[in-house]
Amino acid sequence: DAALNVPDRKVDSVCPYCGVGCQLTYNVKDDKILYVEGRDGPANHKRLCVKGRYGFDYAHHPQRLTVPLIRRADAPKRGDFVMNPDNVMDVFREASWEEALDFAAGKLKAILDTHGKKALAGFGSAKGSNEEAYLFQKLVRTGFGSNNVDHCTRLCHASSVAALLEGIGSGAVSNPVMDVTKADVVIVIGANPTVNHPVAATWIKNAVKNGTKLIVADPRRSDLVRLAHRHLQFKPDTDVAMLNAMMHVIVHEGLVDEDFINSRTIGYEDLKRNVEGYSPEAMAPICGIDAETLRDTARLYATSKGSMILWGMGVSQHVHGTDNARCLIALALMTGQIGRPGTGLHPLRGQNNVQGASDAGLIPMMYPDYQRVDHPGAQEKFEKLWGMPLDTEPGLTVVEVMHAAKEGKIRGMYIMGENPAMSDPDANHAREAMAALDHLVVQDIFLTETAYLADVILPASAFPEKTGTFTNTDRLVQLGRQAVPPPGQAKQDLWIIQEIARRIGLSWKYGHVSEVFDEMRKSMASIAGITWERLEREHAVTYPCPVEGDPGHPVVFIDQFPTASGRARFVPADIIPAAERPDTEYPKVLITGRQLEHWHTGSMTRRAGVLDAIEPDPVALVHPLDLEELGALPGDIITIESRRGKVALYARADESSPRGAVFVPFCYYEAAINKLTNPALDPFGKIPEFKYCAVRLTLGGTP
Ligand code: SF4
Repeated sequence: DAALNVPDRKVDSVCPYCGVGCQLTYNVKDDKILYVEGRDGPANHKRLCVKGRYGFDYAHHPQRLTVPLIRRADAPKRGDFVMNPDNVMDVFREASWEEALDFAAGKLKAILDTHGKKALAGFGSAKGSNEEAYLFQKLVRTGFGSNNVDHCTRLCHASSVAALLEGIGSGAVSNPVMDVTKADVVIVIGANPTVNHPVAATWIKNAVKNGTKLIVADPRRSDLVRLAHRHLQFKPDTDVAMLNAMMHVIVHEGLVDEDFINSRTIGYEDLKRNVEGYSPEAMAPICGIDAETLRDTARLYATSKGSMILWGMGVSQHVHGTDNARCLIALALMTGQIGRPGTGLHPLRGQNNVQGASDAGLIPMMYPDYQRVDHPGAQEKFEKLWGMPLDTEPGLTVVEVMHAAKEGKIRGMYIMGENPAMSDPDANHAREAMAALDHLVVQDIFLTETAYLADVILPASAFPEKTGTFTNTDRLVQLGRQAVPPPGQAKQDLWIIQEIARRIGLSWKYGHVSEVFDEMRKSMASIAGITWERLEREHAVTYPCPVEGDPGHPVVFIDQFPTASGRARFVPADIIPAAERPDTEYPKVLITGRQLEHWHTGSMTRRAGVLDAIEPDPVALVHPLDLEELGALPGDIITIESRRGKVALYARADESSPRGAVFVPFCYYEAAINKLTNPALDPFGKIPEFKYCAVRLTLGGTP
């Protein structure tokens, strides 16, 4: 019956998945989303990928949490981790909101009173709105009394942000993705946009069609390679060697932009001295790219009218992730390839609001707008705004919180919309750490692997069930609008945060979400000029937008950098090897990442019918010759094992992985690959080394 598919309303919103920030319209009938259409937003111009178009029905999934749950006194021990979403009531009992909130907040408060402010921590979410992120970090800072607040930015671009803040004074992109269409040369390094930022990839493809030269630098052969002018298939873990060699060429062949260096930067002489030791001939055997190709690529990048660099987790998720990003920044600075349309630096942000959640202060060392917690001026400003004294010591990061929990230093946690039991490195350790807590409060929409460990679960709202702002990878602040009501007794996240806050002694009185946004504008110069009315009218405004009426600035750093001196800074980098190299016991390298159809830990997309039908089972992508060596056929079950754990999953022959490296998506709870990954951290960004650890493969096993 055709009438069944006629929506009774259309609601304009944005996509809940990746940082591209495609605008879309929910077509709703009887409070159910029937289908989704692309809107003419600045980042997508009506385009959507498979996730944005088909990944919406998770919101109506029967496994949605619809009532508050409290762990039963006779429930299995929290460490005995055998999750069964169909058998929730063996572990939890239903509770009223009043009881659940009193219990959740009461125990947090008791821990605070008994063990002090450093005994609590909170993880917010890059999936939530800016307003949720802001209120969550404010709750931890003013209610828990410390800066122990973080979120999954720590696991994706923390190292890029560390390098960008240090080098150019801003952690955000210099140019929007769409600028690839104005560039003559585009370098995509350590990123697989066709999978992770699919609509952005379409703009790259359009650019190539119109003559832009695309250079893909990646140990894996991604789909974009088919269109690339050149694929630099460097050996995993050798980014610094390759990039320093390119800079060596640029220096030696006089391809630097001296005017730009002299007028806009500091520290060039140090960089120049450092890259002297990285000739292409010396680096070729290390990175696996021959010297002439390194020379050619360096010339191409340095001499084009406009060159742009986009990068992803392949750059950032290493113990030398900050060094990798420092090299990319130095490349742009020494050639003056920044500050104009069609140039610049673009770390492709992963989650739909990882940029905004970071901007809003959901990080342990910064208040909103990257104002350091240990800077007296910033502290004073926020103490005045929030009306209470604040802790000046930077808090613990995601992985540090887990270590502290395991050691009994952190005793209580509030986790909103994150799933560290799946997403943290060395996931068994993370699960043991959360199981060791005296009190774990989880706010989510499904019984995630993390929620399963909780003492109390607060049923929250899915993306289409709330209104708020979300900031995409281009610094575009966009309005997501509520399309359907939350199911059962599930509540809006903003309401839940405020109820917890009230019970630990904070007297907040926010009505509409726009009141939170207005408070954010008071402390964040970047968005001070963006009014709620304008967002409702225009749907999206790019920051920086410091005063009302400012059009917003997609391209920044045109005249100066937002540093104290107005200049950017070169920071030299040397080769630091991965924390765990292959050896005879564990001879292969594990690389983790995402699949096109699934999102992060899979809690949403694996409950979206179309997406789950396309990719239903855990897979490992293995080079065909490595499979042959193993005696395995595609579709066979193989076991992958590291020093920290093992999983069994289906083998898929995949020529895009180099020999000796196996790629595994981290979305499958049945084969949680992060049980294997290495929690070793980059010292600057404190990001774990997800992109490199030593493993061994065997045929067989039980998934
Ligand atoms: Fe959503 Fe990203 Fe796909 Fe756009 S490209 S539809 S934002 S997942």
